[in-house]
Amino acid sequence: MELPELTVLGEQMNKEISGKRISEIEVANPKCLNMTFDRFKKIIVGKTIKSVECKGKWLFIELDGSYVLLFNPGMGADVIHFNAGGKLPEKYRLKFTLGDKTGFTIHVWWFCYLHLMQSHKLSEHKLVGKLGANPIDRNFTLDNFKRLLARKKGNIKAFLLDQKNIAGIGNVYIQDMLFYAKIHPQRTIPSLSEKEIQALYKSMRSVLNESTRLGGLKYEKDFYGKNGRYGPEQFKIAYKPGKPCPVCHTTIEKIKTGSTSSFICPKCQPLTSNA
Ligand SMILES: [Zn+2]
Repeated sequence: MELPELTVLGEQMNKEISGKRISEIEVANPKCLNMTFDRFKKIIVGKTIKSVECKGKWLFIELDGSYVLLFNPGMGADVIHFNAGGKLPEKYRLKFTLGDKTGFTIHVWWFCYLHLMQSHKLSEHKLVGKLGANPIDRNFTLDNFKRLLARKKGNIKAFLLDQKNIAGIGNVYIQDMLFYAKIHPQRTIPSLSEKEIQALYKSMRSVLNESTRLGGLKYEKDFYGKNGRYGPEQFKIAYKPGKPCPVCHTTIEKIKTGSTSSFICPKCQPLTSNA
């Protein structure tokens, strides 16, 4: 799950569960907590959910009493709403029941984080304390993006994946972002021209906004168990090795870039600048 999926989920949760009191909680994998289950339960039961907001790959669930519940789905999770007396999913690891007997379950693929923090201590959190900018925030301008890139030396893909720079981008959407901007993932930041930075700013926002508009990835579920509509028809070169580039028909390649895989058109995205 990347920014589009979590933005959609966060908005739906905010609408559905804000203002409701947590009346009961089940946690089958207490390892995801940052404290013992007993302590967690003692603090959280009886608290009212004030709002839910997506920040990068995290959901910030604000509670009364100046607490924030932080959720990160790790490799993926289904966070599914249920109605009072409604059917629950077959498998789930966590369950939140609210005052009106509605609630939600969470089924996690691999691991997740569910950390309860006092609001004034958020900046001390190892992972969310230094979260970078939201790339689809309307206040995130091209100038903001340029300022983040200034004086940076590494390669552009590693920069975009680093949650401290920009929060919410993973190895799925980044492929087409770089392709649209005609930038090879291993290009260094100082080698990028003004025109290329502009193109990347534009493609980053358009790819993420388009997927958010379509409800996120086809393979992920929203709060009501509905799959998103962004999939192979929307992908340009991502996950299409061996297929022709939609622009120049050169064969799309899958290459290794550090610890991640990248999909590129070697002609449209040369290692040296063509702008
Ligand atoms: Zn091409």
